[in-house]
Amino acid sequence: MTRIFTVTVLVLMYSTIWCQQAPKVLIIGIDGVRSDALEAANTPNLDALISQAIYSPDALNDDITISGPGWSAIICGVWSDKHLVTGNNFDGNNYEDFPSVIRRIEDYNSDFHTVSICHWGPINDHIIADNADFKLNVSADADVESQAAAYLSVNDPDLMFLHFDDVDGAGHGSGFTPDNPTYISTIEQTDIHVGGVLDAVRSRATYQEEDWLILVTTDHGGIGTSHGGNTFSEERVFFIASRFGLEPQVLRRDSLYEAATLDPCYDREETVFFSGDGSQIQVPDHPDFSFGTSRDFTVECRVRTSNSSDVSIVGNKDWDTGLNPGFVFSFVFPSGPEWKVNIGDGTNRVDLHTGGTIADNEWHTLSVTFDRDGMMEMYEDGVWLGSADISGIGDIDTGFGLLFGSDSEQDYPYAGYLSEVRVWDGVLTADEIANWHCRPLADTHSSYDDLLGYWPLMDSTADPVISDISGAQHDAMNIGATWQAQDSVLMEDFSDTPRLVDIPVTAMQHLCVPILEEWNLDGRAWLMDCVFTSAEDLWPDADIRVAPNPASIGQSVRLIGEDLSQVTTVNVYDSRGQFIRTVSHDGSNKPLLLDTGRLPSGNYLLQLATGDGRVKSLSLVLQ
Ligand SMILES: [Zn+2]
Repeated sequence: MTRIFTVTVLVLMYSTIWCQQAPKVLIIGIDGVRSDALEAANTPNLDALISQAIYSPDALNDDITISGPGWSAIICGVWSDKHLVTGNNFDGNNYEDFPSVIRRIEDYNSDFHTVSICHWGPINDHIIADNADFKLNVSADADVESQAAAYLSVNDPDLMFLHFDDVDGAGHGSGFTPDNPTYISTIEQTDIHVGGVLDAVRSRATYQEEDWLILVTTDHGGIGTSHGGNTFSEERVFFIASRFGLEPQVLRRDSLYEAATLDPCYDREETVFFSGDGSQIQVPDHPDFSFGTSRDFTVECRVRTSNSSDVSIVGNKDWDTGLNPGFVFSFVFPSGPEWKVNIGDGTNRVDLHTGGTIADNEWHTLSVTFDRDGMMEMYEDGVWLGSADISGIGDIDTGFGLLFGSDSEQDYPYAGYLSEVRVWDGVLTADEIANWHCRPLADTHSSYDDLLGYWPLMDSTADPVISDISGAQHDAMNIGATWQAQDSVLMEDFSDTPRLVDIPVTAMQHLCVPILEEWNLDGRAWLMDCVFTSAEDLWPDADIRVAPNPASIGQSVRLIGEDLSQVTTVNVYDSRGQFIRTVSHDGSNKPLLLDTGRLPSGNYLLQLATGDGRVKSLSLVLQ
């Protein structure tokens, strides 16, 4: 009895403390913040938010790590396969079917007061468009702070979006890395701006009657002085969902060893692995690799990667532009998924990407023949894929020798395994490529004498010397690539950390806006606070209950009660706030059947909404 009594008192306290408070959302976007740099920087204001937050340093933008698509995901709650923004020109976007969180909540109830203040104008121009009650583009981060603070002091926004841009600028200027003092100090300066905005929130005359959810995130990380690829440094972002009094929780990725598929073609114990940090294997320059203006050649290699960014896998060039002299195996800019080959002479370039999607963590053999007064031909796993005319390409000599794992500046780093690099004088036939793509070379290969170099990359005994076993004596040097056993590989598991698309879903949940299944959102809510802010308060005397409750797994349950006719939608969430489904109701008083289908045992939340904005939350236990 004592325990039941305590629970009752707690519920009443929640009702008293939370229920009169108006839910409010502040979304703070900081462009281009690497999560490890945020951890390294001195950011007392963000730290104070984190001390009352669900915080993850291992959230992800595992889509396109460019601002246009990144902010679209943060504001619309869907990835680029839906919002259709792939770059910063916003051409062909589909905000009509997948609009901003601001339009979603304005459509639900136009009494919501919505605001967006941005340093990077395209967010307002394209994503927010004309849907906010107030929007403003400013030209400095300090103005984001001062305009937001001024607005908060005299107006009453329910959802405010802010965008700070200087951190991205610092990264492009001098490097996206925690080792760059300029980048770190710009993050610290932005933290001061955030502090100014938070002061303005807390100084509001009505602050005691308000329940602010403060969401902070970034659109992408960075590597070197750029971003846009799929490296961990670009995809890893931070996520903060902070609310006064919240028990802090840190969500980190898990590390686990997972048995790897052995290379089905090669029975060797270890393989070279590039971790995506610019590590490289260099074959010294030699006349054998001077392909000049007319010498035909063939390059083959075997790769295993799960990362299709704009890298230099095998090549001999500076990959800053495909016009630069030389050739390279890479992926379609900015992030694949198809692999490609490029050749340039300083003035002209040819790019061929009829290849498949090889970044599937399986082994693939890539072969390209270069007939200098004819065609460049591309093969994958021994199968011909396409060709392009390279007769217009002149001198491709660079003096860099051959480079595996990154380009001549040790930039565009490849992340993955590499083996069986073979360079040939002349053009191999389709039969030769098909017959030898999946077995070690032997002198029975009909062009064996034309080998310019053969680096199997499966034997570390001479490391850092990488042996050329073709007999041509072009031993290479390993600078930083590691060796990994083929039978296991360290995998990192991000399956339980937030994504950019979770931001608007979490925001709408806090505002008690019903999230409809037909919106087809990709995100989930990380807080279930609408339970406290609205349930008893907005509709305390509703006569609706769930039966049976608890129910058995797989058993359908019914909503019953006098007031059921007023319910238009029921949102179902699991105990962690993961949205599961929406059920519509037809306004009758007949019991509403809920199919619990394949739901596992656990606690669920049913959020009932009426057409006029009232919400009631009921719990359901499946056991
Ligand atoms: Zn940028």
